[in-house]
Amino acid sequence: MSELRFNVVKNAFKKKAKRVKAPEERPSEYFGELVFNREKMQKYLDADTFNALINCIEGGTALDRITADRVAAGMKTWAMEHGVTHITHWFQPLTEGTAEKHDSFVEYDQRGSITETFDGRSLIQQEPDASSFPNGGIRATFEARGYTAWDPTSPVFIQDDTLCIPTVFIAYTGEALDYKTPLKRALKAVTEAATDVCQLFDPKVKKVYAYLGWEQEYFLVDEDLFAARPDLMLTGRTLMGHASSKNQQLDDHYFGAIPSRVAAFMRELEFAGFRLGIPLKTRHNEAAPNQFELAPIYGEMNLANDQNQLIMNEMNTIARKHGFVVLLHEKPFDGINGSGKHNNWSLGTDTGVGLLSPGKDAKSNLQFITFFVNVLAAVQKHNALLKASIASATNTHRLGANEAPPAIISAFLGRTMTEALRKLMELPSDTPIEIAGKKGTKVGLVEIPEIFIDNTDRNRTSPFAFTGNRFEFRAVGSSANCGGAMATLNAAVADQLVLFKKSVDKELAAGKKLNVAVMDTLKPIIASIIDTVCFDGNGYSEEWQKEAKQRGLDTETNVPEMFKWFTAPQSVEMFKRTGVYTEKELAARNEVKWNTYTKKVQIEARVMGRMAINHIIPAALAYKNRLLSNIQMTKEVFPDEYQTLAATEIDMVKTITKHISDLSKMVDNMVNARKAANKIEDEYKKACAYHDIAESLFAIRRPIDKLEEIVDNDLWPLPKYRELLFIN
Ligand code: ADP
Ligand code: MG
Repeated sequence: MSELRFNVVKNAFKKKAKRVKAPEERPSEYFGELVFNREKMQKYLDADTFNALINCIEGGTALDRITADRVAAGMKTWAMEHGVTHITHWFQPLTEGTAEKHDSFVEYDQRGSITETFDGRSLIQQEPDASSFPNGGIRATFEARGYTAWDPTSPVFIQDDTLCIPTVFIAYTGEALDYKTPLKRALKAVTEAATDVCQLFDPKVKKVYAYLGWEQEYFLVDEDLFAARPDLMLTGRTLMGHASSKNQQLDDHYFGAIPSRVAAFMRELEFAGFRLGIPLKTRHNEAAPNQFELAPIYGEMNLANDQNQLIMNEMNTIARKHGFVVLLHEKPFDGINGSGKHNNWSLGTDTGVGLLSPGKDAKSNLQFITFFVNVLAAVQKHNALLKASIASATNTHRLGANEAPPAIISAFLGRTMTEALRKLMELPSDTPIEIAGKKGTKVGLVEIPEIFIDNTDRNRTSPFAFTGNRFEFRAVGSSANCGGAMATLNAAVADQLVLFKKSVDKELAAGKKLNVAVMDTLKPIIASIIDTVCFDGNGYSEEWQKEAKQRGLDTETNVPEMFKWFTAPQSVEMFKRTGVYTEKELAARNEVKWNTYTKKVQIEARVMGRMAINHIIPAALAYKNRLLSNIQMTKEVFPDEYQTLAATEIDMVKTITKHISDLSKMVDNMVNARKAANKIEDEYKKACAYHDIAESLFAIRRPIDKLEEIVDNDLWPLPKYRELLFIN
């Protein structure tokens, strides 16, 4: 082993779990202690200010300047008790992760002293010099103003010495420049549309909420090994590396005992999460070696998404304390599972009813079926767009890789629900939808068991699966901001619910009873989805690719092409109707998406080229030289027989030479392709050119991985998969 690699591997292996001081209190005692939640609002604000703020949060009323000043004063007192010295607006631009610009509380009073101030103005609005954030041409650099504005529905929190204020990020002209703004618009649309539909069934419902429960998958890699891999450092994934002899074939990692160093990291992460009010619930090993998952209890979507962003930050910081680096990339290692972020999505009323859970009587079941079917209709209509909403340069490596959902959006219902829908189509519209008793005792004609969770078989190959009381959108990438996919899903569902409500109203106006009006509207919708978007079979099979195409589902696998769905007329109209994106925003965002795609592939291609030339070929040549001198010596000692005696070495030299020459040619071609692509002005066309370059990286990897198999282990300069994946 090269000395450097040997030392790195040895040190990584010897590392022991860091001792984490267990908090003395129970989680319930420190949960949310770093969040300016209701309890703190009550304590630090006077009654009028408190009420005004609650009205603003719940009723969407504006805060006047005086109230805002008082809120800020209360926050300041609370924050300073926690040693806070700075504030920042915390926002989610169209890059990965969140952005912050810290300002200290300090104000100079012009008389040589300073005071700590924080007023309503700096709470509500800031103008970060944000010209470098991606904006797709909405803000020319000379007109670079972008504003961050407080989102009072998401609580203010403390990170280290800084008071963080969750904000939206918008252009001077009002366009959204972030993930939060469209998500909030989509939540408004779906909340209003769903409330309208709910009121058909229960006028007591005043508000519907959209919920999100994310499941964050990730890898941990020892930081020393990470630092010895330029590809991991710069791209977040390994661009090369021969498969380890042992990987996940024994399934011994999945749900296995958590390694002690990792467990220490998880404990500290949970502690941090709890203090930030994130209700973390589940932690376990995932399928691949060194892969793990973290999931909270689901909650209101805007907040849940902020919390996901927050925990991703925390993971990065806390992992380093434990000598790890977190990989949030969707496919850090070839040949083993990648990481996703299942988005468990549902709607629920302010009266506590889950709209995707079967009910207790015929009426609530009709409501359940209504929402269930309309969600599927939305997914059907916008399946290509939904796929575009999860597409990225990184997630593309995971989708369709026979361990993640395929690159086709279909919905899994399970046998019970599929049969129920088929029956409903045939029965008279006034048939009451009964519930089967526990364990499926037949009660009515259409049985919907009460205990659903036990009943839906787990089809892991489906990108959009019904799991008893929610849908799981599983195609979302582990590094993604859920806001992108969730804004699209909520918008599509909102639009469909509005359409549905209109046709029910028409039926009602024609004198039909509610249940008949609803079923008469639902039946043609069921007929249109049941044999198209609904698919319970194996999503990995080759037949499905063909069948999906016949069913009219989108099967595109080229990411830059997928993005075009955002500006397709039916998507633009849907987003306009729901008020989620303007046409200008959609066009601008696509520019950003293509540009980001291009840059990511460009970086990978550069790293690949340089590693091939600076790491791999020199190692291969060094080994080749050893072999050649061996052959040379054999020839000197056995001039007549050396061809036989050194036959293996001669073959090896030939093989190595072939790989080196292939590699160097492919790298040259790739560099030329990049030069040509860089000249293209149009972002879409450029991204398409880079898509081809991305494909070529697979080919370039092949001779490298072959060389890894042959070259003396001593000479190989990079930590191998077996080291990256099994040391923890
Ligand atoms: P699994 O890995 O089996 O899918 P997990 O327990 O890891 O399940 O994660 C399920 C996620 O779904 C959790 O975040 C959970 O809180 C969330 N969830 C459960 N019920 C709902 C619901 N009705 N709406 C939204 N999310 C939900
Ligand atoms: Mg799940």
